Amino acid sequence: MKITLYGAAGTVTGSRTLCETSGKKFLVDAGLFQGPKDLRLLNWTAPFKSSTLDGIILTHAHIDHTGLLPRLVKEGYSKPIWCSKGTAALCKFMLLDAAKLQEEDAKYANDSGYSHHKPAEPLYTIKDAEEAIRLLEVVEDEEWFSPFKNISFRFYRAGHILGSRFVQLSYPTSEGAKSIIFTGDLGNGRSRLIKPAQSPPQADCVMLESTYGDRLLPHESPLPELGEIINKVTKRGGILLIPAFAVGRTQDLLEAIGDLQRRGVIDSQLPVYVDSPMARSATKAHLKFPTELLFHTEGSSVQGPLDTDQFRCTESFEESIALQQINTPHILISASGMVTGGRIMHHLKLRLPDPKNGVLFVGYQAQGTKGRVLVSGEKDFRIHHQRIPVAAEIFQLHHFSAHADYQDSMKWLSQMPVAPKKIILNHGEPDALTALKDHLLERWPETEIVIAEQGEEIHL
Ligand SMILES: [Zn+2]
Repeated sequence: MKITLYGAAGTVTGSRTLCETSGKKFLVDAGLFQGPKDLRLLNWTAPFKSSTLDGIILTHAHIDHTGLLPRLVKEGYSKPIWCSKGTAALCKFMLLDAAKLQEEDAKYANDSGYSHHKPAEPLYTIKDAEEAIRLLEVVEDEEWFSPFKNISFRFYRAGHILGSRFVQLSYPTSEGAKSIIFTGDLGNGRSRLIKPAQSPPQADCVMLESTYGDRLLPHESPLPELGEIINKVTKRGGILLIPAFAVGRTQDLLEAIGDLQRRGVIDSQLPVYVDSPMARSATKAHLKFPTELLFHTEGSSVQGPLDTDQFRCTESFEESIALQQINTPHILISASGMVTGGRIMHHLKLRLPDPKNGVLFVGYQAQGTKGRVLVSGEKDFRIHHQRIPVAAEIFQLHHFSAHADYQDSMKWLSQMPVAPKKIILNHGEPDALTALKDHLLERWPETEIVIAEQGEEIHL
């Protein structure tokens, strides 16, 4: 089998791996590139003919793993898209939302005249997203599924977000059938909502995500620090903005904030606005899949803290704009988590110049994203080509990460009866990739470790 990485190679977005064997061509994930312009431009250029693909397997619903699907459909893709039940449920509104954002951004660019393209075109439309959703096919967990002769795969829980799965793919070789595991994004087992990753079955090769390959995440509860940050900002009359992925991270935050409010650590009447068209659907989707969730019993149920009636979710663009008129203390959670687009842009534009306010980052901020600029403390911050003075206090909490750090990844790998012969590292920035390679070699010196390059062919 030949695999070629057309994304998440030396970077953390645009996950897209082409697999070619026995005359069949299929993808594992079809994610959107986010961040710097040179990466985003890759969304517009197809490295192969989408219409020649025989199938697509999804690890999970995050847009950096699925957000290119409507584009592939627009380019002529018309075959099945296989995923877990949870991923299908999330994709149904996430892809529509992604398309809506593409259309809104193009419209905003045209209305405000900041685009160099006249007129600015969306990458894809709602119609393309609807067509992609029509192609979704659910595959049951832990059961081999054979889409083609001699090629089969099965899903296991990956503990990253609702519905996230790692994939074991079996393919033919001259020495008989072999298998590779694609981790997709791997959880760290510390989520207060999502069940942890399952142990990996034996495989010859693993393609391992490397987001935190050079870092150890805090393993203690995020609640005390989160409470302190909320109190610090709101008690001085400020507004706390939290850029967050609408799916996964927002629900983790709602659960944590609800817990702090119920225990009286923060003001129980403090308004919490969730300004993302997806948040209500995402939260409801969580409640539809109780088997994916950890029902912890420490004085709270999952339904309680995730009950959307306790929070104010906006739907329309007008409601989002109306939030800009509220100047009393509140928490506002909005996407995107790395400030690469979405409604958070408008809120940051308005709130960053006021030193009373705060911005809390709760996820990984990739190189070249506006989120990275803010957490690095750089003062030259621009939105839509306009310089925005950064006076608000910037906070960062790593506890909420839905990714494994290098110790978590090694612990997960070590559950395999025998170490894999080969590990391919993807989904990481250069420092994380080399650090993870060193950690793995130290532990498993016999294993071949490959850092995947964009467009590089790897033969298995
Ligand atoms: Zn993810």
